[in-house]
Amino acid sequence: MNKTLRKAVIAGNWKMNKTPSEAKALLTEIAPLVKDAEAEVIACVPYVDIAVAVETVKGTNIKIGAENAHWEEKGAFTGEISTGMLKEIGVEYVVLGHSERRQYFGETDETVNLRTKAVLAAGLKPIVCVGELLKERETNITQEVIARQIKLDLLGVSAEDVKNVVIAYEPVWAIGTGKTATAEQAEEVCAFIRETLAKLYSKEVADSITIQYGGSMNDGNAAELLGKENVDGGLIGGASLVAEKFAAIVSAANA
Ligand code: PEP
Repeated sequence: MNKTLRKAVIAGNWKMNKTPSEAKALLTEIAPLVKDAEAEVIACVPYVDIAVAVETVKGTNIKIGAENAHWEEKGAFTGEISTGMLKEIGVEYVVLGHSERRQYFGETDETVNLRTKAVLAAGLKPIVCVGELLKERETNITQEVIARQIKLDLLGVSAEDVKNVVIAYEPVWAIGTGKTATAEQAEEVCAFIRETLAKLYSKEVADSITIQYGGSMNDGNAAELLGKENVDGGLIGGASLVAEKFAAIVSAANA
C-alpha cells in the first residue's frame, strides 16, 4: 500500500477561537468551497461550538472533531469532557497531545496514551500529535524524541485499533510561528514515523496509517508539503480560520 491508497485528511484545529455563532458562520462559508474534496475534511472546534458545528455541517462532507477528551467515562473530574459525551453529540475525531496541551496544561505521553485508548474504545478517531522542540532539533535528537512519543502514546494500542489513528507530525517550532518545516524536513520525519510504526506493528499496518504535517501550513506551501510521499494530510491552525485559505489547502490535497 502506498500514499495513493491512503485517504488524505485535512483537519482544521481552531484552538480557542470562534464563538458558536462565529463557528456557524465560518462552517457555512467553508462548506460550499470544499464540497468536491477528495480529502477527508475535518473541523476540530472548541467544545461549546460542537453542537452548532455538527448541525451546520449536516448534509455536507465536513466532519467535526474535538480538541481533547478525558480518558475516564464519567465521575468527579470537574471541567472535563468524556468520549461518550463527544460521541453522543456527533464528534468523529479528537485531537490529542497537541503541543499547546503539552506545554501549557501538563499533558504527558502517559496521559496522551490514556486518552488515545479511551477515544478508540468509544469508536472515535484520535489525531495524535507528536513533534520536537527547536532545542531538540538543534541537538539532533528529533528522531529519538519522535520515537519515544510514538511508542509511549500508542502503548497498548492494538494493530487493529491503530488503523483508526491519525498521527500529526507537528514540529513545535513551526506551530503558530509562521516558520514551516521544509517539505524535505516534513517528509523525513513523517517517513521516520512510518518506519517506527512498521517496527511496532507491521509494514502493512504502517502503510495504512495517515500521517499529517502541521505547523504553519497555508495555501502557499500546502501543495509542496502534501506532495511528499509520507505526508498524507495536514493539521491546520491559523489558516483553518479563513475559509478561502482552508479550502485552498483542501484543494491542494486533491491534486
Ligand atoms: C496547530 O494548531 O496544530 C497548528 C499547526 O497551528 P498553525 O497552523 O497555526 O501553525
